[in-house]
Amino acid sequence: MARFIFVTGGVVSSLGKGIASASLGALLQARGYKVLLRKLEPYINVDPGTMNPFQHGEVFVTDDGAETDLDLGHYERFTGVNTTRFDAVSTGRIYSDVIANERRGDYLGATVQVIPHITDAIKHAILKNTEHVDFAICEIGGTVGDIEGLPFLEAIRQLRNDVGYRNSLFIHLTLVPYIPTAGELKTKPTQHSVQELQSKGIQPDILLCRSDRPIGLEERRKLALFCNVKPECVIEALDVPTIYQVPISYHEQGLDSEVCKHFGLESKTAPDLSIWEKIVETLKRPEGDVTIGVIGKYTELLDAYKSLHQALIHGGIANKIHVNIEWIDAVQLEDGNKATLIERLSHLHGILVPGAFGERGALGKMAAIQYAREHKIPFFGICFGLQMAVLEALKNIGGYKEASSTEFEPTSMPAIALMTEWAKGDVVQKYFPGGDLGGTMRLGNYECKLQTDSKTYDIYKSKLISERHRHRYEVNTEYLEKIEKCGLSIVGTTVDGLLPEIAERKDHPWFVAVQFHPEFKSRPFKPHPLFTSFVEAALNQNRLV
Ligand code: GLN
Repeated sequence: MARFIFVTGGVVSSLGKGIASASLGALLQARGYKVLLRKLEPYINVDPGTMNPFQHGEVFVTDDGAETDLDLGHYERFTGVNTTRFDAVSTGRIYSDVIANERRGDYLGATVQVIPHITDAIKHAILKNTEHVDFAICEIGGTVGDIEGLPFLEAIRQLRNDVGYRNSLFIHLTLVPYIPTAGELKTKPTQHSVQELQSKGIQPDILLCRSDRPIGLEERRKLALFCNVKPECVIEALDVPTIYQVPISYHEQGLDSEVCKHFGLESKTAPDLSIWEKIVETLKRPEGDVTIGVIGKYTELLDAYKSLHQALIHGGIANKIHVNIEWIDAVQLEDGNKATLIERLSHLHGILVPGAFGERGALGKMAAIQYAREHKIPFFGICFGLQMAVLEALKNIGGYKEASSTEFEPTSMPAIALMTEWAKGDVVQKYFPGGDLGGTMRLGNYECKLQTDSKTYDIYKSKLISERHRHRYEVNTEYLEKIEKCGLSIVGTTVDGLLPEIAERKDHPWFVAVQFHPEFKSRPFKPHPLFTSFVEAALNQNRLV
């Protein structure tokens, strides 16, 4: 049976519970254990697919096409284990399942209640498919004290009784703030947060304390005494310069050995952390640098581009260089002013247009693409970025000023059009305009075949690739001939040849645009080949200027 680790958060949000959970997963893996990570989300949305990235950050897409919280991206990047739809459980999902059961009559006339029906459904979701792992790490979203989180806390309290003390562990991530006027680190917020947990019947076994400076012996003793944990289980989680240092730093503080001790798993050999040491070393001592401009519209909340940001860093790791990223608001490039473009773009070694929804900023993105095309600056288009590259070529090279996307407006030249039918294996999937918005896109892994005389083939070194998707519109094949005449070659399509997946320019040093999201599959220890190649092209550009 799997052992269960529950990670809760206290005091404030944004302490990095996702990275903490993912780092613990990486440490247990480094000790030879098989792990699975799972996120329990108290919000009422069924999934974050319909949430505004400004509020919630990136929607991370799994292989099996679930739209999930960005923490699942951390789990995958730190452990290399691909998550599934079962690893993202929200209140909305639990309630919609319970209500569907109730409508079917599954509860045989019982009054359906939070306890036991909702809590049972949560427990069921936690236990699902855990038989094949040594550890299931479950992160509870939100902060202890949130009303929405109560059923989840109750469920994990019950689970400890179900699986036993020795098979379950509670970790509480908290903040120990420094108060300059007092010149002291303060333990009181943590004490209160633990009291709140205890009032729900949960006694944390380990406190993971975020702090911007070392926590002295005195504060540790105080935390241990008031929070009822062993002093050695008060683990300091100091701020570190890169997230990939977190596993190393937690190990140095003894997190993994305390976890193993709790489960009665004493090991004589130290975990092998060499992959993390190598990554941190490369990040600390880069041999050069490049500046990449990301032309987006969620540039004020960088969480909206979490995986993309990390994938660019991974591309830097592969080339042993540092990648500076300039987040450029596409709307600011829309005035059509040449001086603005020169000021914002001319110093860039690479330009990337990422995924997006809606028309706002589209003109600015096309302006940036035109600039990259004309000035031979490496260009990487992702999803919406491919769609904009197609429109830019048709408008500016082909002279088809009316070319547009039906996502924006009714148009006489729908070069990007709504996809209403597509194949998933042998099954035809359909989208009905006007129906539900949630979970109705072309989502998750789809195979794509590549032409062997293309740059993309040289990069992947494979004729058949598989990448994750999240889109509702597609390059309209009715206009393929016109698009190709503008110098954009379609070098990758779905296996049935029906949907264009990749476009390249042969008259440009590096101009690749893809309909999928390669950033979801990049790992620090296995950078995605497209990002590695793009950063390398930017480095060559840097050598030119
Ligand atoms: N809005 C576009 C579509 O739905 C692109 C989506 C994206 O970039 N993820 O097709």
